[in-house]
Amino acid sequence: MAYVDEVIDLVVKKNPGEPEFHQAVKEVLESLRPVIEAHEDVYRKEALLEQLVEPERQIKFRVPWVDDKGQVQVNTGYRVQFNSAIGPYKGGLRFHPSVYIGIIKFLSFEQIFKNSLTGLPIGGGKGGSDFDPKGKSDREIMAFCKSFMTELCKYIGADTDVPAGDIGVGGREIGYMFGQYKRIRGTFEGCLTGKGLDFGGSLVRTEATGYGLLYLTAEMLRHNGHDLKGKTVVVSGSGNVATYAIEKAHQLGAKVVTASDSNGWVYDPEGIDLAALKEIKEVNRQRLTEYKKYRPNSEYHEGRGVWSVKCDVALPCATQNELNLEDAKMLVANGCIAVAEGANMPTTLDATKYLQENGVLFAPGKAANAGGVATSALEMSQNSERLSWSFEEVDQQLQRIMTNIFQKVADAADRYGMSGDYVAGANIAGFEKVANAMLAQGV
Ligand code: NDP
Repeated sequence: MAYVDEVIDLVVKKNPGEPEFHQAVKEVLESLRPVIEAHEDVYRKEALLEQLVEPERQIKFRVPWVDDKGQVQVNTGYRVQFNSAIGPYKGGLRFHPSVYIGIIKFLSFEQIFKNSLTGLPIGGGKGGSDFDPKGKSDREIMAFCKSFMTELCKYIGADTDVPAGDIGVGGREIGYMFGQYKRIRGTFEGCLTGKGLDFGGSLVRTEATGYGLLYLTAEMLRHNGHDLKGKTVVVSGSGNVATYAIEKAHQLGAKVVTASDSNGWVYDPEGIDLAALKEIKEVNRQRLTEYKKYRPNSEYHEGRGVWSVKCDVALPCATQNELNLEDAKMLVANGCIAVAEGANMPTTLDATKYLQENGVLFAPGKAANAGGVATSALEMSQNSERLSWSFEEVDQQLQRIMTNIFQKVADAADRYGMSGDYVAGANIAGFEKVANAMLAQGV
C-alpha cells in the first residue's frame, strides 16, 4: 500500500467521528503524493507523515460562566497546538455551537501549511469553544471571554502560541481576552493578535483576510490573462472576511452582488452597499433581513443560494463545506471563471475536483485567505519592536506577501508537472518548508 494511503487509513482509525479532520488530511496528503513518492525512503524511516498528522498537543478545558439571569452555564474550550517546526503556534479562536475537537483539528492542520506559505516564522494552531455568541449581551460575552482566558492563559504567550480571531471572535472578544491575560499573567505582551489599535493592534489586521483574498485573486486572474476589473463577483458570508473582501473587490473595480448569513442571502444587482452592510452587521449586529430597508431594489432569500447567481468570480467567505458539487455545477454552467476560498475549506472535495476539471481557476483557502494570519504575524513583529507601522506600510507588505504566495504556489505546481493546479501547489509549497524543518530538528 502507498505510504499516503497507509497514513490516511491510520488517521481515520485513530480519530473516529472527526470527518472534517479526515477531509483536511485527505485533501493535503492526496495532493502531496508526487512529493512523498520522490522522498519515500527518508519520510518512511522518520515516520514524517505519522508525525505530521499527530498534533503536538491538544488542550480541552471547562469554561463556566454566569448568564444575565444568574444561571451558571458550562462550555468546552479547546486549543490544538499542532506543529511548531517553523515558529510559535499561530491560529484563530472560533466561538460557534458547531465547534468540537474535529473542527479545531481540521483548522489547526490546515493552518500549518497556510502559515508556512506566508514565508513568516509561525507554526500551526487553532482553538475555540462551542459557546454561541448569538443573542448574548455584552456582559455575557465578557463573562465568557474572561473565563475562557482564565484557563487558556496557562498555555499561550508571545513566544509560545499567539491566538487571533475567527468565526464569532472579533475585536470585542479579543479585547476582553487580552485584558484577562494581562491581569492573570501580569505582563503586557503580544499574546493575541487582532487587538484594538490603542493597545498593540496593527492597522489593516481587520481588513487583512478579505483584502488579501482579493490581492491573490487579482494576481491569479492576471497570471491567467484576465482582469478583475469589471467582473461580477458573488460572495457568501457577511462577517469579517466577507465584508472586507467586498470592500477590496469594489476598490479594484469589480462588482459584488451577493452576501449571506446563516439564515439567508441578499442579491443586489447594483452592487452590495457596503456602508449598509457594515451598519447592519458591525454596528447593530442584526440579520441580513434588514438589508432591504437600505436597498429596496435588492432581494432577500431564505436559506442558501448565492452560488446560483450568474458570476465571473465566486468567493466563499462563510464556513466549511458551504459550496458543494451541485453548487459547483451551477457556477460552471453560469460561466464562472474563478473560485477563491476566503473561508477555511468551504468547498467540498468533489466540488473542488469538478471546478478544476471544468477549467475554473481555483485558489484554496490556505493560500487565498492567508492574508489574515500574515498580518497577524506583522502585528507580532510590531509588538516585539514596540512600534506601530502605518496603514500603507502594512497594506504594501500584505500585497507583497499575497503576490509571493501566488508565485510560490504556481511554481510548486509547475515543478511537479501540475501547472494550474493551485491546490496541489499550495500544499506542496507549504509542506516542503515544514517537512525540512521537522527533519532538521530530529525526533
Ligand atoms: P465571522 O464570524 O465574522 O463571519 C462568519 C460569517 O459566516 C457570518 O456571516 C455567518 O453568519 C456565516 N456563517 C457562519 N457559520 C455558518 C454556517 N454554519 N452556515 C452559514 N453561514 C455561516 O467569521 P469570519 O469572517 O472571521 O470567518 C469566516 C471564514 O473565514 C471562516 O471559515 C474562518 O475560519 C475563515 N478565516 C477567517 C480569518 C479571519 O481573519 N477572520 C482568517 C482566515 C480564514 P451568521 O452571522 O448568521 O452566523
